[in-house]
Amino acid sequence: MRNRRAALTAIAASASLALALTACGQNSEGGSKEGAGDTEGATIGIAMPTKSSERWIADGENVKKNLESKGYKTRLVYGEDDPDQQVSQIENLITQGVKGLIVAAIDNKSLANVLRQAKEADIPVVSYDRLILGSPDVDYYASFDNEKVGELQGTYILDKLGLKDGGEKGPFNIELFAGSNDDNNTKYFFQGAMNVLKPYIDKKQLVVKSGQTQLNQVTTLRWDGGTAQKRMDDLLTSAYRSDRVDAVLSPYDGISIGILSALKSDGYGTKAKPLPVVTGQDAEVASVKSIVAGEQTQTVYKDTRKLAEVAANMVDAVLKGEKPEVNDTKTYDNGSKVVPSYLLDPVSVDKTNYRQVLVDSGYYTEADLK
Ligand code: BGC
Repeated sequence: MRNRRAALTAIAASASLALALTACGQNSEGGSKEGAGDTEGATIGIAMPTKSSERWIADGENVKKNLESKGYKTRLVYGEDDPDQQVSQIENLITQGVKGLIVAAIDNKSLANVLRQAKEADIPVVSYDRLILGSPDVDYYASFDNEKVGELQGTYILDKLGLKDGGEKGPFNIELFAGSNDDNNTKYFFQGAMNVLKPYIDKKQLVVKSGQTQLNQVTTLRWDGGTAQKRMDDLLTSAYRSDRVDAVLSPYDGISIGILSALKSDGYGTKAKPLPVVTGQDAEVASVKSIVAGEQTQTVYKDTRKLAEVAANMVDAVLKGEKPEVNDTKTYDNGSKVVPSYLLDPVSVDKTNYRQVLVDSGYYTEADLK
């Protein structure tokens, strides 16, 4: 890292001034204010996108726990899916004198200015799960292999429809959903899935009756389940009056639940009209229960405990003047730089392996899933 010691001395004064100027009562959890100095007991700011999805609640808690076990204090804030709110939360964290930032962005393109302020205060930034774009001030990126997430979803659909066995099976009808267009992960998930599905669409063994196959036609702003439900309703009305849909590519469990509601309202879920294959992501409790009940078919599990550990280790290493461990230095170009990354492995989960993957690993208890 750059000239940290000199910079730290320089910001010590401005940080304590800032602290003096900052009223108490900042809406945050945990940690206490302190001035800059050495990193022992320093406070790390954690900015998460929303509490409306379980995974981010678990992420926040896990990052906090990890940092605290290393002797740091933490301030954890949630931006409630409002990009402006997230910017001001990060500004506040900087003003409060945090020594490091871990940020899961809401809008990946909205943070360049506030990260410049972090850089000026010599605060290292780890981009958490979602890559922050258009900023040279992102030091490291901790995530999963996002393209593989999509590949797992696409491959699962092929398997379930029996298309992987070769031959002339089909045609099967499929509809495609993608995540929020302001999340950099969205294109990787979709690309991964399409790498697998497109050859079958080209051969017409898979048919997208709506004709909506381009990413910009299938995104779901802020990953909202209600928005997905509405789109699925519209698709069923416009393209499936006389045909059934056999599979739905869904990128995230909250979206899958919305899609399933639309399908059930349309009469799917009976012997005569079984539900299509519906994928998902995050292994959220509601979706795992739905999988166990035979509704949602699959999800992609990403162990947020491991991601939290990677991100906490990155900040800790940087603050100690060490080099964080990375395993990818090529893939994640944020428009300003290729951000050194550590990518974890996602795992496909369905009814056949949920116990082994989710319960035996202690991610959930059997009781959580009742
Ligand atoms: C994450 C996914 C999550 C989605 C919606 C993405 O950035 O990588 O795990 O399903 O956001 O919260």
